[in-house]
Amino acid sequence: MSIESSIPHMSMDKESILKLLGQVRYPGFSRDIISFGLLRGVEVSPEGKVTIGLAVTTADSAIPRKLYADIEAILQGAGIQNPEIAITVTVPKTNPSSSPSTSAPSKLPADAGVGKVKHIIAIASGKGGVGKSTFAVNLACALARALNEKGLTGRIGLMDCDIYGPSVPLMIGVNARPEMEGDVLLPLENFGVKIMSMGLLIDADAPVVWRGPMIMKTISQFASNVRWGECDILLIDLPPGTGDAQLSIAQSMALSGAVIVTTPQTAAVSVALRGAAMFSKVNIPILGVAENMSFLESADGTRQYLFGQGGGLKVATALDTELLGEVPIDPAVRQGGDHGIPVVISHPDNNAARVFKSIALTVLHKLNQPT
Ligand code: ADP
Repeated sequence: MSIESSIPHMSMDKESILKLLGQVRYPGFSRDIISFGLLRGVEVSPEGKVTIGLAVTTADSAIPRKLYADIEAILQGAGIQNPEIAITVTVPKTNPSSSPSTSAPSKLPADAGVGKVKHIIAIASGKGGVGKSTFAVNLACALARALNEKGLTGRIGLMDCDIYGPSVPLMIGVNARPEMEGDVLLPLENFGVKIMSMGLLIDADAPVVWRGPMIMKTISQFASNVRWGECDILLIDLPPGTGDAQLSIAQSMALSGAVIVTTPQTAAVSVALRGAAMFSKVNIPILGVAENMSFLESADGTRQYLFGQGGGLKVATALDTELLGEVPIDPAVRQGGDHGIPVVISHPDNNAARVFKSIALTVLHKLNQPT
C-alpha cells in the first residue's frame, strides 16, 4: 500500500502512476479502475520497480486479463519496464452470469442494460421502515429536477430491487405494465425518472414466493434487459437488510457507491454499520449517510426528537463519511408517498423537500455531475 516517500532516482512517482491508472477503464464501462475502488496498492521500490495490486469481483475471467493488459500497456507506454501487476479475483457467490461485463449481452441493443449508465448508486438500510424507499424516490426526483434545470432530461433512473415489498411504483405514481420491445423491457417514466420495479410486473396480491435464485434472475434482468439508456445516475433501492440478497445485488452491478439511510435511534447505528460493512467487503465506497425522521418541527420552530438524536452523524463518523442531511418527519412526506407525488415535486419549498434537494446537489457534486 505504501510507497517510499523520497526515492532518489525515480523516474516515476506514485502520483504519476496513480494518474496513469486513473486512465484505465473497467472493461465495458466508462468508469476508471481507481474510482471503481479496485486499486489495493501501488509500491515503488528504491530501484524503481513498480508493483500494482488490484482486487476485482467478477465471474468473467476475461476481465482480469483485460485489466492486466491495459495496465501493463499504459505503464510501459510511460516507460515503466516490467511492472508487477497482482490482481486478486473474487467470484461472486451467486449469480455468476451477471458480472458487469455480461450485463449487456451483445445481442441486445446498446441502450439496453446498465452499460451506458455513468453512475449506479445503491440506497441501502440495515432494516426496514426507516424510509429508504421514500428517500430513494425523493432523491431520484430531486436529481432529475436538478439536471432538468441544466437542460438535461432522461438522465436519472430508479431500479426498485426491494422486491419483497416494492413500494416505489406507488410512491412515484406509476402503475402501468411496462412494454417490451423484443427482449428489452421499457422503463416507465414519471417526474423525469425512468423506473423499473417488480411491483410493475406482478399483480399486487399475487401469491408469489420469491426464492433467492428467482430474485437474482430478476435483478440481473433489470440490469441487462431494461432500456436504461444513457443515464447519468441510476439509483438502486435495495431490499432492507444486509444479507446475501443485498450482497449479491451489490456484486452483480458495478456500483459507484452507496448511500446509507438510517433513523436517529442509537439502536439503528449498529444496524446501519453492519450494512456499510457489507459494501466495504465488495469495495463499494459509501457516498454518505442520510438520516431520516430526524425531528418533528412545530409551526413555532421548536423541534421534537421523537426517535432520539445523532444516529446519522454517529454512523457517518464511524464510516469516515459525510452526513448528507437530516430529513424531518413531515406528514407531507408520507402523503407524497401515498399519493404518488413525492414531496420534492408537490411541495418543493417544504423543509423536508429542501433537505432532499440539498442531498441531491451533494450527490451530483460528489459524482462530478453538473450542479
Ligand atoms: P422503507 O423503504 O425503509 O421500508 P418507507 O420508505 O416505505 O421505508 O417508509 C415507511 C413509512 O414511513 C412510509 O409510510 C413513509 O411514507 C413514511 N415516511 C418515510 N419518511 C418519512 C418522513 N421523513 N416523514 C414522514 N413519514 C415518512
